[in-house]
Formats: sequence, C-alpha cells, structure tokens
Amino acid sequence: MDFKKFVTVVENFPKDGIRFKDITTLMENGEAYKKAIDEMVNYAKERNVDVIVGPEARGFVVGCPISYAMGVGFVPVRKAGKLPREVIGVDYGLEYGKDSLNIHKDSIKPGQKVLITDDLLATGGTIEATIKMVEKLGGEVVGIAFLIELSYLSGREKLVDYDVFSLMTY
Ligand code: 5GP
Repeated sequence: MDFKKFVTVVENFPKDGIRFKDITTLMENGEAYKKAIDEMVNYAKERNVDVIVGPEARGFVVGCPISYAMGVGFVPVRKAGKLPREVIGVDYGLEYGKDSLNIHKDSIKPGQKVLITDDLLATGGTIEATIKMVEKLGGEVVGIAFLIELSYLSGREKLVDYDVFSLMTY
C-alpha cells in the first residue's frame, strides 16, 4: 500500500519553514490505519516483545493498537506532572529550551524486551530520552518502530545501536 498517499503534508506548521507530516488523515482511513499497524505488528512479532513503550500523544496512537494485537502491555511515557505514581524522568533538548519526560518507576521489569513506538522520527530527541528511561529501569530495547522517518533530520544517527523500523521515509 502507498501509505504516503494518506499523510497530509502541511506547509508552515507549527511555524514558518516546517513541512508538518499530518498522520490524522491516515488514521481517519480505517483500511490504511489497519494496514500500517499490521506492518508494525509483523515487525514486533519478529522480536519477541514483552512490552511496548510510547511517548505521548501520537506514540499511543501507534503503540496501543500494536499492544492490543499482540496481547502485550503498553507503558505510556508522558510529560512531567501527568503520571500519578512514582516516576523517573529525563530532560531532553527541544529546539528552544528543554522539557522532561517521565515513566512510572515500576512499569518495566529488568530484562523485559521493549519495543518503543512513535509516529515520527525527527531529530531523535524524544526517542533518545525514552530509551534512557527504559534502560534505567533495566529494559532491553529490542526495536524502535515509527510510521514516518524524516531522514533529512538524521535522527537515526542517535539510534545507531538500535534496530529501527520506519514505514515511510521523507
Ligand atoms: P524528535 O524528538 O525526533 O525531534 O521529534 C519527534 C516528535 O515530534 C514526535 O513525538 C512527533 O510526534 C513530533 N513531530 C515532529 N515533527 C512532526 C511532524 O512533522 N509530524 C508529526 N505528526 N509529528 C511530528
């Protein structure tokens, strides 16, 4: 399937010069969304995944249906202040300033094989922070799966030690 047909490229969002890849039009199409998730499930099944971890909010859109299809758990990564129990956190750089991401401290057991999911790989900062937290908790990152990779932002260079799958590349 030509998945790119279902992605809308929005010029100058959220600011001038950015060509935003809008995946909501892919999600709105039941067949395209299902087929995209099926491809990611196939990738995950080859890796004996115990649990899936995804950052808010679009990491949930990708990770939760994979988790349901495989019958494995899903662990949310959220911005600071959103998770109700004890967390660990990591600061990560944004284009301007920094932010921090959190994960529940008891969410991953040492030795668990973890698949990380998100909608899109840009600079790789979000996923790098997510990997750090998973590894701090003793999880083994056995794969990272994206719907979209923006190759011109070279996020993959931050992920050279990991197995990375992307359904579409721009
Ligand atoms: P990174 O941390 O790799 O620089 O940025 C990736 C994060 O920003 C992802 O969580 C993703 O949801 C969001 N993001 C950045 N650019 C885009 C875009 O063009 N389209 C979408 N859908 N998300 C984006």
